[in-house]
Amino acid sequence: MQKDKIFQNLGLGKDVLEGGNLDVYSPIDGAKIATVKTDTPQEAKDKIAKSAAAFKVWRTVPAPRRGELVRLLGEKLRHHKEDLGALVSLECGKIYQEGLGEVQEMIDICDFAVGLSRQLYGLTIASERPQHKMREIWQPLGPVGIISAFNFPVAVWSWNAALALVCGNSIIWKPSEKTPVTALACQHLFQQVCKEFADAPDGLSELLIGERDIGEILVDDKRVPLISATGSTAMGRAVGPRVAQRFGKTILELGGNNAIIVAPSADLNLAFQGIVFGSVGTCGQRCTTTRRLFVHEDVYDALVPRLKTAYAGLSIGDPLDPKTLVGPLIDEQSYLAMEDALNHAKMEGGEIFGGGRILAEQYPNGYFVKPAIVEMPQGSNVREETFAPILYVFKYSDLDDAIARQNDVPQGLSSSIFTRDIQEAEIFTSEAGSDCGIANVNIGTSGAEIGGAFGGEKETGGGRESGSDSWKAYMRRMTSTVNYSSELPLAQGISFDAQG
Ligand code: NAD
Repeated sequence: MQKDKIFQNLGLGKDVLEGGNLDVYSPIDGAKIATVKTDTPQEAKDKIAKSAAAFKVWRTVPAPRRGELVRLLGEKLRHHKEDLGALVSLECGKIYQEGLGEVQEMIDICDFAVGLSRQLYGLTIASERPQHKMREIWQPLGPVGIISAFNFPVAVWSWNAALALVCGNSIIWKPSEKTPVTALACQHLFQQVCKEFADAPDGLSELLIGERDIGEILVDDKRVPLISATGSTAMGRAVGPRVAQRFGKTILELGGNNAIIVAPSADLNLAFQGIVFGSVGTCGQRCTTTRRLFVHEDVYDALVPRLKTAYAGLSIGDPLDPKTLVGPLIDEQSYLAMEDALNHAKMEGGEIFGGGRILAEQYPNGYFVKPAIVEMPQGSNVREETFAPILYVFKYSDLDDAIARQNDVPQGLSSSIFTRDIQEAEIFTSEAGSDCGIANVNIGTSGAEIGGAFGGEKETGGGRESGSDSWKAYMRRMTSTVNYSSELPLAQGISFDAQG
């Protein structure tokens, strides 16, 4: 698909793509695809003010009606799935199939949120006092700040936006400075939907374009009670305390260091598929990418050489070419980080298969790499996330030890075991098993469905978004007790006789 055609279909004109001060490059060939305008600090504050005003109107719209707006957004996304999927490929480098998958995820969360808009249930709780009723009411929270990373440039926004909107909140999005064009496209589509929807106030969705400094304005603004921030652990470490300082709430979705355990009884064909997709998909740039592999000694020689054969045959190149399985890294900095990590692993005694830059002549400004497998020495571990396709492989003999090593890292996002032994599977998902937010059996670490709550423990930040009851984080819980008697009994039987 032609770049200009994609822009045109998504309603992106020269007014938004040219004449700004932030150059946007495609990671495919390093070509400049746009120069967009960033917001000044004052413009960012003005947009937050607009959002706060929009919230006051939107919170009074009945939730099922709010769901109708999200339904229309889902329809709009269905209509533009191919264009937006292609733009995701062009701007962040993931293969077209994954770009389409990302837009499908947006559609799925819209469907989920539409149903949810009629199910924002609270509890009715038995009161200890006669003729009293106690209930829990979920109220809209306020403008929700969404900070997103480059690697899921549109899905992460939609997970937050769809839920926040049905919950009665306005939204303010600060996308990655590496992927502002997809954000401008989403904002344009959303504005189109709002035009057809009389109840949508002006300012319901605001977009802040800029770097960290613009993100910080959002983070520090008291008018924004919730900041949902997705990105590196370093970002979360900066954002979390700043929001806490002003008693705001956060949903933090940070780095992962995900592992798969392959047990002796595993179906090795399944394991093979799950490992390859999980470790090289999106060129190793998913928060849920498989970064560590613990293989039982009995199946090590049946599995690891097969993985190397698959790695050697991967089609790497233009992510918009249907034959390609692995696109480029986002930029040179990511490539250098991968080189650093491989050098470090070598010093630690790791044996490296693959790695290194390729296609440099064809794409002098695109950073394509061969994904790497690193066989690590006995007893070692890797505790940092390198956002690149490196799979560290460890041999194990005892499951408890493998689980302990899997857990012995600062991050706690996604984990899996491949086994046909029900006892092992149940141990893995028990309180003594994986300590991650996601623990799968016979499925890889990446590619979660929107129906479950998504997120991780420890330095992954502890946030949950998307499915299950994650919506509760976007609302304010109110406990309300109503007395329909003619007495005023006090709780705990306290006697307090006021005279007068
Ligand atoms: P990043 O941390 O560099 O940037 C993420 C966003 O945070 C950007 O919009 C950036 O401008 C903003 N930002 C950075 N510092 C900030 C600050 N102090 N205040 C306010 N905003 C700030 O991350 P990246 O390189 O774009 O993305 C890769 C990282 O994101 C990886 O670590 C990956 O694991 C993680 N990630 C996590 C999830 C998840 O759900 N857990 C999902 C996707 C990506």
